[in-house]
Amino acid sequence: MDLPASGDIFPAKEAVRMIDAVDLTPPIEVPPISPDAYPENVSDEEHRWLQSEISRLKRERRAYILAHNYAPSDIQDVADAVGDSLYLAQKGADSDADILLEASVLFMNQILAIMKKPHQRVLAPDLGALCSLAAHADVGKIRQWKREHPNGIVISYVNTYLDVKAESDYCCASANAAKVILHVLSHSEPDQPILFLPDVYLGFYAGKLLEQQNQPLERLWLMMGACHVHDRIRPYHIERQRRLYPDAAVVVHPECGCTSACMRQMAQGTTPANMMQFRSTQGMAQFVRETPQKIIIMATEVGNIHPLSKAAPGKTVIPASPEAICAYMKQNTFRKLYLSLRDNVHEIKVDPALAARARLPIERMLSIV
Ligand code: SF4
Repeated sequence: MDLPASGDIFPAKEAVRMIDAVDLTPPIEVPPISPDAYPENVSDEEHRWLQSEISRLKRERRAYILAHNYAPSDIQDVADAVGDSLYLAQKGADSDADILLEASVLFMNQILAIMKKPHQRVLAPDLGALCSLAAHADVGKIRQWKREHPNGIVISYVNTYLDVKAESDYCCASANAAKVILHVLSHSEPDQPILFLPDVYLGFYAGKLLEQQNQPLERLWLMMGACHVHDRIRPYHIERQRRLYPDAAVVVHPECGCTSACMRQMAQGTTPANMMQFRSTQGMAQFVRETPQKIIIMATEVGNIHPLSKAAPGKTVIPASPEAICAYMKQNTFRKLYLSLRDNVHEIKVDPALAARARLPIERMLSIV
């Protein structure tokens, strides 16, 4: 029998059992991070000059700058909108600017290109900003599953490219994954199979929701995929930080490799719910603001410390793993943001036929919030 591989689709129980047996290393090259992705490596003088040029060009070109929470902090500081993939999709879709310049990764740029108004252009600072999680999604295997399950429903996570979204019925982000899954459960027949892809950890979280709704887990199918940054955040990372900071609260992104172990701890009562929460990138800000704890251990990409620290200035946010750095997001540098705006380059174009099919699942994602 062939070994299970990334992109394979299995019934949820089997998929969760096999997580550690499948090679979930990135199926695409992880690029090196340029030193100027870190603001401290750009001279103050150049930085000030770039900042004023970006402001000038933004006005002249009627541009709107969007930055993901994992983008370098200096880009976040000049952006008009900073947030997670759902928030950026909403802000981009609402904007009337002539140029939408988004410092994120390709699948998010594609959402803007699908939802944009006719007069708008979508630009990216660097076309090499891809995503290891999106690269795991195998469109051929999705089509095969659909042939075998003609009444099946496909929910794709926002971290997928255009061709995968075009095969999907619904799209969701971590911020509204639970709501989309509950919506699908209440608008489908109990015997309709559901495929959730491509993140197997978030799929595990979806399975927990099904159980809470007294729905049979047998309905759920998962694809074997993971983000290499979140996958490498393991239970021992959390434990190590908790030993160093015993009074710290913990907030975990459900894409992480520690999700199932953390959920088990909560279910067994070894960690009280007020000291450990599962939140989307954006949802973490609310938790950090509201928890009475002064120190918060954050399990996600380290760039998210910047917006969390701004959201709750009196709190200290510590990464569960300081190595959790997304090299794709760090392809966006301040200098490249400026060059893209100055030269009108790195336009994101999408195939119109695929875009027309991908629009409905994206619209559903934007409306179920
Ligand atoms: S952190 Fe992971 S999921 Fe997010 S863009 Fe990077 S590789 Fe993709």
